[in-house]
Amino acid sequence: MSSEVVVVGSANADLVVQVQRRPSGGETLLGGDLQLLPGGKGANQAAAAGRCGADVAFVGCVGADANGGYLREQLAAAGVDTSMLGSADRPTGTAIIFLTPDGENSIVVSPGANHAFDLDAAERSSAAWADARVVVLSLEIPHESAFRVAARADAAGVRVILNAAPSTRLDAEVLSVCDPLIVNEHEALEVLGVGEDDPDAADYPRLAQRLRASGARSVIVTLGADGAIVADADGLEQVPAYRVQAVDTTGAGDAFVGAVASELAAGSRLLDAVRFATAVSAVSVQRVGAQSSYADRAEIEAFVASAR
Ligand code: ADP
Repeated sequence: MSSEVVVVGSANADLVVQVQRRPSGGETLLGGDLQLLPGGKGANQAAAAGRCGADVAFVGCVGADANGGYLREQLAAAGVDTSMLGSADRPTGTAIIFLTPDGENSIVVSPGANHAFDLDAAERSSAAWADARVVVLSLEIPHESAFRVAARADAAGVRVILNAAPSTRLDAEVLSVCDPLIVNEHEALEVLGVGEDDPDAADYPRLAQRLRASGARSVIVTLGADGAIVADADGLEQVPAYRVQAVDTTGAGDAFVGAVASELAAGSRLLDAVRFATAVSAVSVQRVGAQSSYADRAEIEAFVASAR
């Protein structure tokens, strides 16, 4: 029996060190104490859906090492089923993050075990999502594997949510199964294969329409503190963000995607799912970290009530 939401994607151990500035070539700097945090887009999205109360499983690959064990524990603590999470003969994916006072973090991602999620693993993953309501995909795993899952899940009648992050150009075949495609403003341009010089580059409603015209069944363009645009067969709507004091926006987009998946699986309309996801991500930006910043449903409902 599948979970209702199945997230297929990446899991990373985020290794965070505060430094006064970025080291230059040949230089050694002393930083603050190392912080280990659970991350990776797929794992974050699954954790967010779990905190929202969804019946959710995470499928991907971690290494047979301490970080892999840690990520499994963190997902389980968020209510995520990890019984289909694979173990690879490569190190668990890692993001090495230098936090500098200028707020411009420098990050090196070592995909490791995430890249062991090959086409065979993609085919095998059908056991996890065959009876799911929605499958959620993002692009920190090999793209051909993500696209294979998208095509197979769609053919099996499972709703496909694709978060095209990190961004890439998508062809019409992939776009045609997205319901919705979720992108931020930069990713919207990349998916369309156009640059900042495009006449519509800052016209987000128009970009959302163009993504639908390119084949996506529905589209969400997230706009940070400006909220999100939703385009589907019912039309186009802009959903404003909540006005909050943002402390750390890391993982806000993933919280949004996980919340949309949770609500669509529960039968909500896309627009209502986006309204709820806007609240979930607004709560997350008021706290440090990604998974560590995700609230449970009771807290989100209290936030929505207090914001009215
Ligand atoms: P990404 O991190 O993928 O670029 P965004 O920055 O667009 O994603 O954020 C996703 C969603 O999170 C937004 O649509 C919005 O609802 C919420 N959000 C992000 N930043 C803020 C903020 N500063 N204040 C309130 N909500 C925010």
